[in-house]
Amino acid sequence: MRIGQGLDFHIFIEDERRPLMIGGVEIPGSLALKGHSDADVLLHALADAILGACGQGDIGQAFPDNDQSYKDLDSNVILSYATRKAEEKGLKIGNIDVTLIGEKPKFAPYRETIVDNLARLLKVNLDCIGLKATTTEKMGALGRAEGLGCSAIVLLLPLTE
Ligand code: MG
Repeated sequence: MRIGQGLDFHIFIEDERRPLMIGGVEIPGSLALKGHSDADVLLHALADAILGACGQGDIGQAFPDNDQSYKDLDSNVILSYATRKAEEKGLKIGNIDVTLIGEKPKFAPYRETIVDNLARLLKVNLDCIGLKATTTEKMGALGRAEGLGCSAIVLLLPLTE
């Protein structure tokens, strides 16, 4: 088995046309995150964790932010790329543990929807998805709600198990 961790941060921006995407789910009523892609901080941390577990670099290498073809890219594409790399190495997702970091928005109302979506995207059971949220107790940029962070850990198992 292989273990990987991923970490990502994005800044909030005011752009009414841009939705906040977290774990592939649109969260209404919040500022969006700035990024070259759709800035889904959760899927980026998760994809980096999977690539890390495979020893396959990071998502910035695979999806450079100076490549205009990746502008506003749906981060499901990035996650699919990472899971495909795992499959090529004979590995599948065992379980994931994810922590969103920030003051707002509150994720509790969307938690179940995000977990359902992650289970669907990763083709695992619901109890293989850990999803938590924490604040920084108002410390620092995240504490001033200038953006969101996400930490993800993933365990990969042999495909044959
Ligand atoms: Mg990112």
